[in-house]
Amino acid sequence: MTNSPTIRRSQGAHWVGDGFPVHSLFSYGDGPSISPFLLLDYAPPTHFAPSRTPRGVGPHPHRGFETVTIVYAGEVAHRDSAGHGGTIGPGDVQWMTAASGVVHEELHGAAFTKRGGELEMVQLWVNLPASAKMSPPRYQDLRDAAFPRHELAGGAGSVRVIAGEYGRARGPARTVTPVHLWDADLRAGGRLPIALPPAFTKMVLVRRGELEIDGARVVAGELAQLATGGGEHVVRATTASAQCLVLAGEPIAEPVVGHGPFVMNTRAEIATAIADYQAGRMGAL
Ligand code: MN
Repeated sequence: MTNSPTIRRSQGAHWVGDGFPVHSLFSYGDGPSISPFLLLDYAPPTHFAPSRTPRGVGPHPHRGFETVTIVYAGEVAHRDSAGHGGTIGPGDVQWMTAASGVVHEELHGAAFTKRGGELEMVQLWVNLPASAKMSPPRYQDLRDAAFPRHELAGGAGSVRVIAGEYGRARGPARTVTPVHLWDADLRAGGRLPIALPPAFTKMVLVRRGELEIDGARVVAGELAQLATGGGEHVVRATTASAQCLVLAGEPIAEPVVGHGPFVMNTRAEIATAIADYQAGRMGAL
C-alpha cells in the first residue's frame, strides 16, 4: 500500500499585480521536498469585467529558473527583454527559461481585456541546475493543438501531455532536467495510474471535482504531494468528472537560495543578481 499524500492548501489568495488573484500552493521556502519545483500559483476561475486598461504585472526580472504559465480560461500576454513574446489562450502554455535573466511583463491579452470574462491559470516555477542557471534565456510558445492526448483504459478519461510522457504520448516542451507535466480529465470513477521513478517529486493539483489519491480525499483547489518511495500511485475521480494537473520531476540536489524573483545556489549569487538587474544587465522592455 502506498503511503498517503501530503495535502497542501492555500493560505488565502493574493494578487500578483492587478491581474492575477492567485493561491500559492507551495514556494521555495518550503524546503527541498518540492525540488525541482520552486513555486506554484493557481488562479481559480475569476470573472473580470471588460476594461480599456490592461491588467497584470508590469516589468520585473527573473534569474535562475523557468516560469511555466498554463492558461485554462482567458488570455495571458508576455513580453520580455530577450525579445520573446506572445499571447496565449485556453489550453496554451508559455515555458519561459529565464536562466541568466530577463525582465518581462505579464498582462491579460488585449482582446480578453476588452471583452472581459473568466480567467483561470497556473504559474509553475521550475528550478534549473547550477550548470544552467546562467545559460541564455529561452522561450517556448506551446499551443493546445501541439499536446498529444493519451486515452485511459476503460474510458476513464484522457491525459494531455505538456512535458515528459504518459503512455506513448510525449509532450513537446523541452525541459532541462526530467520533468513531467500532464493535464488529466477523468470521468466518474475514472482511474489515472501514475508510475514514475520512486525518487521523483510528484504532485497533483485538483482543478475540478474531487479525487481519491492513494486513499486520501483531495478537493478542488488543493494540491496533493505523493509519498516518495516505491509503488504505483492511483488517482480516482469520486465526482461525476474531475480535472487535475500532475507535475513530477527529478529532484535537483543543490542548495536553493531565493530572494523574490531570483533563485540561485548561494547568497553571493543573489547579490550579483540584484546588482546585475539594477545595472540593467538583464535588459529592459
Ligand atoms: Mn514573472
